Amino acid sequence: MSRPPKCRWVEFIPRLTLFKPAGVPQRELQEVCLTVEELEAVRLKDLLGLEQEACAERMGISRPTFHRILTAARAKIAEALVGGKALRVEGGHFRLVERHFLCRDCGHRWDAPCSQGPPGCQLACPQCGSQNFYRVDEEGKPYPCCTRARDGEAEADRCRQAGE
Ligand SMILES: [Zn+2]
Repeated sequence: MSRPPKCRWVEFIPRLTLFKPAGVPQRELQEVCLTVEELEAVRLKDLLGLEQEACAERMGISRPTFHRILTAARAKIAEALVGGKALRVEGGHFRLVERHFLCRDCGHRWDAPCSQGPPGCQLACPQCGSQNFYRVDEEGKPYPCCTRARDGEAEADRCRQAGE
């Protein structure tokens, strides 16, 4: 009995989705496909170094499910590196976490997905264009340790890397 897979929450959509080994002609190149939630699993566990329990919670799935996704992701990455294959990130069953922001200058509140815009491009208040804003939670309270953020996204990433 197999049920359709549940949606997983992801906070990150990669801007670059195709990674190719150098020196392999296109026609000989084999591809390994990593889903967006598999990449998210590796990002949370291996890049941010979170516990599996915390990773599972952030993605809204059980710990065994998280473990299965992580294991599949690591195997695919290993296959690409060892076998000299291209790695493509696409598809999956996921929903993007929305973040909420509040403008200090005009009081406007808005939602934006993560990883929006090119790197280095700062978000700005859609109403007044100010970059004097911070990230808030569902209730509009300042997001922990992000109250001084000028670039809410970068600041949130730093918080996460510091273990929140
Ligand atoms: Zn504003």
